[in-house]
Amino acid sequence: MRRQWIGGNWKMHGSRSMASALAGAVAEARFGDVDVALFPPFPYLREACAACAGSAVAVGGQDVSEHESGAYTGEVSAAMLRDIGCTVALAGHSERRQYHHETDAMVAVKVAQALANDLTPVLCVGETLEERDGGRMAEVVLRQLGAVVAHCGIAAFERIVVAYEPVWAIGTGRTASPAQAQEVHALLRSQLARDNARIAGSIRIVYGGSVKPGNAAELFAQPDIDGGLIGGAALQATDFLSICAAAG
Ligand code: PEP
Repeated sequence: MRRQWIGGNWKMHGSRSMASALAGAVAEARFGDVDVALFPPFPYLREACAACAGSAVAVGGQDVSEHESGAYTGEVSAAMLRDIGCTVALAGHSERRQYHHETDAMVAVKVAQALANDLTPVLCVGETLEERDGGRMAEVVLRQLGAVVAHCGIAAFERIVVAYEPVWAIGTGRTASPAQAQEVHALLRSQLARDNARIAGSIRIVYGGSVKPGNAAELFAQPDIDGGLIGGAALQATDFLSICAAAG
């Protein structure tokens, strides 16, 4: 039985006081068998790290630079995230792929940077509606996954969380049905099993895309869904904590 994982991606929302209050409320909660991580905007990472210090709640960057250091204005390195107390980082969120033109190759290097700096990478994969409707879902998610396997090696997946986030379900209120999500999670797991059955059996593959307190339990009950990456519903402590409770 895999331990469930829940992440709260705040995206570009909030303020310093909101970050302290929300992270503080999550840090004070008691969870069952679930690992919990928060992804505030970069300027509020320190508030969240302070609020979560001494708790079991991890804090991470919503993105991480593919570069180690240097003249890359606006970038934040994995070492910097680690330096301020982060232990986790998102890589390849669809909003980064879509609006910042991150390629599979760039995402793979970001994952490697996170690993090299002792951060748990959360590798996001997912197809657009056009790709799904065109019968290309499997091709897209396996290509996104395969780029990281090729660059980092299968052993790296011992330390990676994979998030399946169909782009058409993110922030749209349109959730993948539990059966639709399960199908993709099983596909990703079986692809990893071709390289290493043990790692495929133990890796957490979490679902993201309009998860709410009302649909979380049914999604998390699927055999290959090991928790969730939560956007909108992570901005209210009560909603986020009830989703964590559904996983634990
Ligand atoms: C996300 O940002 O990763 C996400 C899944 O957002 P939402 O829950 O709002 O769809």
